[in-house]
Amino acid sequence: MNKKIYYIIIEIILAFILAALLFRLAMVRAAENKKYIAIIIDDFGNDSKGTEEMLELPIKFTGAVMPFMPNSVQEQDRLIKTGREAILHQPMEAHTGKRSWLGPVPILSQMSTDEAVNVFTKNADSLDKIKGFNNHMGSAITEDKEKMRAILTAAKERDMFFVDSVTTANSAAQDIAKELAVPTVKRDVFLDSTQDISKITENMRKTGDIALKKGYAVAIGHVGAEGGVVTAKAIMNTYEELENKGIEFVTVSELLKKVE
Ligand SMILES: [Zn+2]
Repeated sequence: MNKKIYYIIIEIILAFILAALLFRLAMVRAAENKKYIAIIIDDFGNDSKGTEEMLELPIKFTGAVMPFMPNSVQEQDRLIKTGREAILHQPMEAHTGKRSWLGPVPILSQMSTDEAVNVFTKNADSLDKIKGFNNHMGSAITEDKEKMRAILTAAKERDMFFVDSVTTANSAAQDIAKELAVPTVKRDVFLDSTQDISKITENMRKTGDIALKKGYAVAIGHVGAEGGVVTAKAIMNTYEELENKGIEFVTVSELLKKVE
């Protein structure tokens, strides 16, 4: 073979190898720079307004299911079928609010630690596809270190993760979870508790800003009167804008794998 042609072929092969290496490096860099948002939608289980709209969203999220409601198991199964993740939305007593807001199986301040664990176990048993739990209300219980330690110990035995909804600035729950080596993250932003779409849109952008700064962010929205259809609309209107900034929407399980 002509020597010149031989060298040209070698050069072409080397150029290809170099290009492949550079491409691989760029991909690794892009993965390293990736930011994440885990959205949790609370209060599934009661065929509440916005349930269909949430399940039709084109992004991943984690659905928190209230136990022992008319549609708890059915909505857990629909979350899984549509490619989401389901967690237990454990009702816990708050300093304020009506008892009726806690649903049929809450953890109450007056309960003994054993009773609190029994309620948690019964609720976790009632939903067979859950990966973790977060608190529904709970400003009183999440400040109760003894109860939270016992509940989180039970969660660890079941391989469940914990998301602190942070309904009180004095929540001891996440620190205890960390102490017990229960995989955990906490809420950064509440998306709704309003029917004002501009406010929810603003909260989605705020979630994006936190993710860009910190690497990830956890936001909680709701089906039902706390948000529902309007929250689904606001998420629909903003998710592409956030994805274009390099943010990926993930479930809490996926987020925990990336941040741990
Ligand atoms: Zn809730």
